Amino acid sequence: MSKVFTISNKPIIIAGPCSVETPQQLSNTVEALSQDQRVDMIRCGVWKPRTRPGGFEGMGEPALQWIASLRKKHPKLPPFCCEVARPEHVALCKQYGIETVWLGSRTSVNPFLVGELAESMRGSGLSVMVKNPITPDVALWIGAIERLQQVGINDIAAVHRGFSTYNNFGYRNNPLWEIPIELKRRIPELPLYCDPSHIGGHREMIASLSQMALDLHFDGLMIECHSNPDDALTDKAQQITPQALTAILDNLKIRQHDATGPSDLQRMREQLDVVDTQILKLLSQRMKISKDIGIIKRRHNMPIFQPQRWQQVLERQMENAKTMGLDEGFVKELTEKIHGESLRVQER
Ligand code: PEP
Ligand code: MN
Repeated sequence: MSKVFTISNKPIIIAGPCSVETPQQLSNTVEALSQDQRVDMIRCGVWKPRTRPGGFEGMGEPALQWIASLRKKHPKLPPFCCEVARPEHVALCKQYGIETVWLGSRTSVNPFLVGELAESMRGSGLSVMVKNPITPDVALWIGAIERLQQVGINDIAAVHRGFSTYNNFGYRNNPLWEIPIELKRRIPELPLYCDPSHIGGHREMIASLSQMALDLHFDGLMIECHSNPDDALTDKAQQITPQALTAILDNLKIRQHDATGPSDLQRMREQLDVVDTQILKLLSQRMKISKDIGIIKRRHNMPIFQPQRWQQVLERQMENAKTMGLDEGFVKELTEKIHGESLRVQER
């Protein structure tokens, strides 16, 4: 069976409603989306994991029946994908001809559940997307992917939808881009998509988050679309119309992943490598001095940390930041990191 998830210069676009609500809402949304040739796949929420009880939990099997009849009516529609959270969902998706599914972030966080779902997919030939766990834990994300690989699922992609953290800094889910970047570093051949809808939580944020994802070498986007977002039963603030999706896609700058760039760029990168080595050499020199200072402090029965001295160091570096045109927040964070390491080195 050919793979659904591949890496190329053209980002894969997955779009569709957060939840399937009615046959009319489904066909209005999907028919409009299929007018845009760039939409590769339709996403549909059939079972909805809700934070609190009492809300709309998805239509379940009837939604799959509506999808099947819509596909019968329009055989040329892009393929559909649905979220599965229990082995019964996997069986129903297979029964209704859905060949691509995804694990949501409340599922990928739970190794027992991922194990059970994986078992239910053994020999199914399904293509599976794995959303990041709600906690920022790259090992748990990789673990979910490995549990699928263990049962012979080999068409897998990862979807970054942000993380639930103490302060989400204005996002619905904090993007913490370093986590998907680390995933890509560890498994470069794994296609990595971004779900800007669940990261932003607001329509206005979808365009800029999508561009950010493409600039960070993501291989595709999953975007929630609804024929009438303001009436949506779930996630209404973040859903956009199919027309709005087309406008966003029109304005996206698609980067060429395999481009090597002009020779100037190569030369400048070599310069960067030299500077990076110099930075580490200087840091190593600084830590050696710190270590010696630690010995003297111990000899004179002085505490390692002296608040006044730290205040002076920080102020001097903030002045330096201003003169050198460096971002002050960045320099403060960097100085704190270096100081923390210096204290650690002196403690030994
Ligand atoms: C969804 O895609 O509709 C969804 C519930 O996603 P997540 O698992 O990212 O919250
Ligand atoms: Mn949603």
